[in-house]
Amino acid sequence: MPGATLAAAAGAGVRIESVSSRAVKTEAVVLRSMRYAEADRILHLYTPHRGRVGAIAKGVRRTRSRFGGRLEPFFRLHIELHEGRGELLTVTGAQTIDGHARLRGDAHALDAAARACDAVGRLFETSEPHPGVFNLLCRQLALLDERAGEAARAAEPGPSGQSSARGRAGALAFRLKLLLAAGLAPQLGACASCGEREHLVGFSGAAGGVVCGACEAGSFPLAEEAHRFMADALGRALTDVPEAGAPVLGQVERAIAATLEHHAHVRLMPAAGRAR
Ligand SMILES: [Zn+2]
Repeated sequence: MPGATLAAAAGAGVRIESVSSRAVKTEAVVLRSMRYAEADRILHLYTPHRGRVGAIAKGVRRTRSRFGGRLEPFFRLHIELHEGRGELLTVTGAQTIDGHARLRGDAHALDAAARACDAVGRLFETSEPHPGVFNLLCRQLALLDERAGEAARAAEPGPSGQSSARGRAGALAFRLKLLLAAGLAPQLGACASCGEREHLVGFSGAAGGVVCGACEAGSFPLAEEAHRFMADALGRALTDVPEAGAPVLGQVERAIAATLEHHAHVRLMPAAGRAR
């Protein structure tokens, strides 16, 4: 009985940590999946209580692998891992919670999902737990999957400018919520330098938010619509992202990038691919 062994070990004055391996069961989203050696894969997983986890899945690329196609990016899983002495955990079991199958048939949704996973992996790359970030990522993937399904049913010949603006707005709203979870939400209620509540005309990454006319040195202009988009996106659910045109979204993206560069030294890929 493992419990008795542990108790005996502890009683004998042996440190529990000397038990060199243990099983970990967790939910996870596959952020990245890279080929490794003959038939293995290295995975980046995002979990609710262990943050980002690196794992190796052995023999997964063999046709008869018991994991099937489950260890691909964007799968949400119940996963079993074996934690040994190495940096990577070993995958010992996986059950699908959601494979997001519709998303996989839509190039735009797939691209958006890859950018969402990349942003989470870069901003939350440690084992620090952020269950809110895990939930946010799951909601964003579910939403992309649902909308890919809708687009397929409507048999749209291709994405219109409107739907690609909606996609970019959704991606930026997601990033703003990630900033909030990382403790980096930009100050939007008053000038981030002096506290002035009126005449907020710019955005400064260094100051960490909107700035007034007197403090605008080192800032870039921020339209009222862009300011409102950020406040609304932070206050609303991901299913209820405000609409905005390309120039406004461009300013929002720049504000997010400036915040991340100054305060997290992180640079993300563009929020959305070029409209095709
Ligand atoms: Zn000011």
